[in-house]
Amino acid sequence: MSELKLMAVFAHPDDEAFSCGGTLARYAAEGSDVYLVTATRGENGDIRDPGLATKANLPQVREQELRCACEALGIHPPRFLDYLDGQLTIVNQGQAVGKLVRIIRELRPQVMITYGPDGIYGHYDHIAVHRWATIAFGLAADPACFPDLSTPCQPHQVSKLYHVAMPREMLPFMSRDGRPPSVMMDGAPFPMVTYPREQIDAIIDIEPYVPAKIAGLMCHATQVDAGETSHEAARFVESPMTRHEFFILGRSVLPEPAGVEKDLFAGLR
Ligand SMILES: [Zn+2]
Repeated sequence: MSELKLMAVFAHPDDEAFSCGGTLARYAAEGSDVYLVTATRGENGDIRDPGLATKANLPQVREQELRCACEALGIHPPRFLDYLDGQLTIVNQGQAVGKLVRIIRELRPQVMITYGPDGIYGHYDHIAVHRWATIAFGLAADPACFPDLSTPCQPHQVSKLYHVAMPREMLPFMSRDGRPPSVMMDGAPFPMVTYPREQIDAIIDIEPYVPAKIAGLMCHATQVDAGETSHEAARFVESPMTRHEFFILGRSVLPEPAGVEKDLFAGLR
C-alpha cells in the first residue's frame, strides 16, 4: 500500500481543532501525511483579547494561529483558498471547486474530511465548503480533467469523504443553563446539530492525542476567552469528545463497512 494521506477541508482557522484535531494529530503521529485546507483566514472572527490583534491585522494573526495549531497537531502547514470569512456563499463556486480539485490531484489523499450538510450549526461558510468539497471529491476523479481542460491532468479518486459529526450525547456537556447549545449568528441562536449513535459511521479513539488537540485549540488565542479557558477546558475533559471523535461517511467508493469503523483508513491499508 502506498503512503496514507488525509486531507481536511474547513472554512475558518480553529474549525479543524474543534471538530477533529485529535484525529488529525493521531494520523500524523502514526506516520500518515495529514493536510489541512482552510478557505479563509477568519478575518470576521472575534478578538476576545484586544491585546492580541486589531481588525486590520486579524487575518495575519489568525493565519499564524492556524500555523501554530498545525504544528501542535503535527500536520503539514495549512493551505488557504484565500477567500473572505463570512462571504463564501457569494464566492464563485466553480472557481472554489477548481481550486480544491487541483489540490486533491496534487496531494492525492485517500481520505478527506469536511463538514456535513448541517455545517455543524448551519454556518453558511461551513455549508458552502461542504458543497465544494463534495463536488470536488467527484470531479477530481473525472478524466475530463476539469478545471484544466486544455492540459493533461492526472485525475485522482479519493476513496472516502467523511463528515465531522457531533453525537447526541455531547449535548449535556455543551448546553449552558440547561438550554440546548447554539451559536449566535446575525442575532439569532443557531442550534448545534447532533446525531444519534446509530447514524455515526466512524469513531476514532484520540485519547493519546487529547493534549495535542488542546494545544491546537489554545493556538487560536484570539478565539479563546482567557477568563473562560479553564472552565471550558474542564468541560472539555469531562465530555465524550475527550477520548473520541465522530464521523459520518458522506461519500465512498469502497464496499460498505460492516459496522462502525475505528479507522478512517479502514479498507485502505
Ligand atoms: Zn467555522
